[in-house]
Amino acid sequence: MVPMPPRARYLVSNPCEDACGTITTDRTAEGAPVYRCPGCDSEWIELAERTEPAPDASTPTPPPTEGT
Ligand SMILES: [Zn+2]
Repeated sequence: MVPMPPRARYLVSNPCEDACGTITTDRTAEGAPVYRCPGCDSEWIELAERTEPAPDASTPTPPPTEGT
């Protein structure tokens, strides 16, 4: 089978029969809000919502300096 396009990054991936819902959590990953499925406790982030580079990036970029 061909995997789905990586529109989301799963932090915790569990099988979910048919009720994969989306609830928000208080946590963030890579600057994106972490979502959780109340049915199977999978957790993921939407790649499009990231605002920070992956923590394993070897070339950290300085934070943007918006007018202080
Ligand atoms: Zn689920």
